[in-house]
Amino acid sequence: MPSPEPPCPQAAAGYRGRFAPSPTGPLHAGSLVAALASWLDARAHQGQWLVRLEDVDTPRCSPAAARLILQQLAACGLVSDGPVWVQSERGTAYAQALARLQQAGLAYPCACTRQDIEHALRDSGQVRERHTELRYPGTCRSGTHGKPGRAWRMLTTPNSQINQPESHYLKAFLAPFIENGKWHWHDRISGWHAQDVAQRVGDFVLRRADGLWAYQLAVVVDDAAQGITHVVRGADLADNTPRQLLLQHALGLPHPRYLHTPLVLGTDGEKLSKHNGAAPLNLDDPLAALNAAAAALGLQPHTACPMGEALQTWTLEWAHLHPCPSPAADGLCGH
Ligand code: GLU
Repeated sequence: MPSPEPPCPQAAAGYRGRFAPSPTGPLHAGSLVAALASWLDARAHQGQWLVRLEDVDTPRCSPAAARLILQQLAACGLVSDGPVWVQSERGTAYAQALARLQQAGLAYPCACTRQDIEHALRDSGQVRERHTELRYPGTCRSGTHGKPGRAWRMLTTPNSQINQPESHYLKAFLAPFIENGKWHWHDRISGWHAQDVAQRVGDFVLRRADGLWAYQLAVVVDDAAQGITHVVRGADLADNTPRQLLLQHALGLPHPRYLHTPLVLGTDGEKLSKHNGAAPLNLDDPLAALNAAAAALGLQPHTACPMGEALQTWTLEWAHLHPCPSPAADGLCGH
């Protein structure tokens, strides 16, 4: 795939980064790593750093957790440079984006339950790997089989079942961005990656059967609406990036640059979460919490100096470790 690295959009527009926690509980050591990395990257670029509360999965989120997260960030010296956006207030923007995809023939209604999908995959001999999403087998591409369509899905390949001409989808829409069916994208730490979205996850959900907006759609709409030029987040989200690039492309939105930070692992070797022993950050000693996060990012410890000074030193160190390349002549961006 193309090299050199894609250009830094900061050259064209001011750097805007973000930290986008889901308020399902307090910040813990793992989430602080992503918060600190995104803040340092913004400061290293003399950019803005915004906090966005990703509470689209409303039953799992709480306003109390949202308040606590903002307090924890502030105690660590990390304060949003602009108003904190809350995704549960952004339904109109998501509905408009979905309508555009529907009008373009890129989204279709789906009546399948989780069980229907599991049965269809089993019938076709596919085994589900641990910790992977169910790859949607495309059951409702040809219609919802007399059942009410409740969810909406994104088309990831041309829909031969409704005779959608290849030229409409593949040639006009995807061909310049994929090679052998794979989306290519660049991570500022781990380099080039490729993913066949159709193979990996299939037509993914944009709006869930329970009416809630899917993370993929909300994150893409909001990153664009907030003018985010650089996404810095945990490596557990890297697998989502090709879906987000695809949606950005379908909606005519710019592609930010991506950097995925190393994960902090819990006692069971899985990503640290409240299920495997992550304790909420100790607000009595934010510098200790920041030092642990900095160590996970490969930065030097600063235990004795005041917090502001430690943050400043880490910013310089970060700028040295993770410079953003200047624009490339071919104008490649994000994939
Ligand atoms: N809300 C997501 C999370 O807390 C992060 C999304 C993102 O940074 O794109 O895991």
